[in-house]
Amino acid sequence: MQNEVTHEGAILVLSGPSGAGKSTIINAASEEIGEYYFSISTTTRAPRVGEENGVDYFFVAKESFEEDIKAGNFLEYAQVHGNYYGTSLKPVREALSTGKLVIFDIDVQGHRLVRAKMNDITTSAFITPPTLKALDERLRARCTDNNDVITQRILNAKEEIKAVGEYDFTIINDTVEKAAKAFVIVAKAARLKQSKEDEVKFIDKWLGEKSD
Ligand code: ADP
Ligand code: 5GP
Repeated sequence: MQNEVTHEGAILVLSGPSGAGKSTIINAASEEIGEYYFSISTTTRAPRVGEENGVDYFFVAKESFEEDIKAGNFLEYAQVHGNYYGTSLKPVREALSTGKLVIFDIDVQGHRLVRAKMNDITTSAFITPPTLKALDERLRARCTDNNDVITQRILNAKEEIKAVGEYDFTIINDTVEKAAKAFVIVAKAARLKQSKEDEVKFIDKWLGEKSD
């Protein structure tokens, strides 16, 4: 469902440590949040077992990523855990122009860049397990990363958690069910966010109707 006065889409940024449960929560809530476009990022990291090119990420070589940077193809990009990750501008623009809710799973650096460029239509949520210990356990249980990678992700998480105050909402992923419920509410709020442009249009229309 779209806000009556919104003609442009809206952005919902989700951040949180790797292993926080972002993918799990989006999947659990996907039927309830209505039509949305999930922004598939491009990355130079190697695919994990079970990950598919064009579904989870576009997996590319470092040289190709750097060419895209030069060509100005990214809305934002960052280096995370020693790899590049970026959001391509074109599909996001297209989805927004059709009024869709565009969901990003990006890190705290990416969130800052999106805020700097598109604050007006952006809502954000930081997703985290209840404790660092729970994060460690979930990363190990996921069995997709070796010890060194997990150690690096935990170190990164200790830094990322400090940015929690920069987000509109915090979702504690205690149980998937509770977190998915909170996520549905946040997604609905994101759709209702009114941009400055919509606000001006609404006021004009409202005054026009009043003077009729
Ligand atoms: P992210 O997308 O943030 O990297 P994932 O969705 O892959 O995280 O979740 C990391 C791991 O934790 C997965 O193995 C997932 O099944 C598990 N997980 C997610 N949410 C919970 C939860 N509430 N309780 C227990 N395990 C969870
Ligand atoms: P992972 O390797 O676990 O899939 O992701 C590692 C981190 O990179 C996560 O914090 C994730 O949110 C972030 N990330 C994924 N895609 C992007 C992106 O396009 N831009 C930015 N800035 N971060 C991303």
